[in-house]
Amino acid sequence: MTLSFSDTYRLNNGIEMPKHGFGVYKLTDEKRMRTALETAAEVGYRLFDTASFYHNEKQLGDFFQSSGLNRNDFFVTTKMWNNEQGYDETLRAFEQSQKKLQLDQVDLYLVHWPKQDTFFETWRAVEKLYDEGLVRAIGVSNFEAHHLDRLRKNANVLPVIDQVETHPYFPNHLLHRYLEELHIVHQAWSPLGRGSVLKEPTLINLGQKHGKTPAQIVLRWHLQNDISIIPKSETPARIKENAAIYDFALDDKDMHQLDRLNTGERVSHAPDVMYIRSEV
Ligand code: NAD
Repeated sequence: MTLSFSDTYRLNNGIEMPKHGFGVYKLTDEKRMRTALETAAEVGYRLFDTASFYHNEKQLGDFFQSSGLNRNDFFVTTKMWNNEQGYDETLRAFEQSQKKLQLDQVDLYLVHWPKQDTFFETWRAVEKLYDEGLVRAIGVSNFEAHHLDRLRKNANVLPVIDQVETHPYFPNHLLHRYLEELHIVHQAWSPLGRGSVLKEPTLINLGQKHGKTPAQIVLRWHLQNDISIIPKSETPARIKENAAIYDFALDDKDMHQLDRLNTGERVSHAPDVMYIRSEV
């Protein structure tokens, strides 16, 4: 399988999105974030994944302003938090995000979590932002098949991606098949399971076989499963390491070994549990 760092997905609305991006959750220290972003851009990352909840949209916006990158050379995803859902709330949240990111147009705007009571109002506001050209594409995060079934009944625009927890312990295979049928890209958040999977002997052995690290083995497995990835690190060496996954390939046997690591364990809440928690 020939893959390249510059590979993109053509989303179901026709726009191109890099397959391999950089997540910035928990990057808040200004200096360390700057160094991480500079390294990422230098190495060739072009998709940056943030959210209002990460409290670093302004820092990301400042970085783009001074980075020398052309606007067409980077792709920005952001999301509204749960207490920003609802029609007016979402429009207000987007305005804030856009201001902090200092962009005329955001590439991709996501509903961060499915929230039952404001479900359709939020999506209606997101569709309005899309219709007005303030965002190039709209999507969801943490939506399971039953959330998408519900959304599709009333939506005018289908989400382009679903960003969901996905790693060897929680591969989300069934949802992947469902998304594939709908032409919705599956994007993995916590693709490394926040580091929890990296001590697995299977990964260490496969790393030795290919001359790669466990993290590189896991990231390559995602790509070969046709899943978009947004690994996060603030350590320059790891940022580079996570990009250096295009000079080897896992064979079928390797892929099956990773598939066997599935334990069904998540690193975070199940979407419907998160909804209850976010009520506070
Ligand atoms: P991740 O799986 O990317 O793991 C990140 C952690 O793994 C790092 O903090 C570091 O400790 C470790 N790590 C990274 N590279 C490594 C390497 N090469 N070797 C060893 N350890 C390494 O987890 P994440 O940050 O939770 O997820 C990635 C991105 O996904 C986030 O930054 C964010 O943008 C997004 N995200 C979205 C949601 C959502 O609800 N939509 C939730 C969580 C994360």
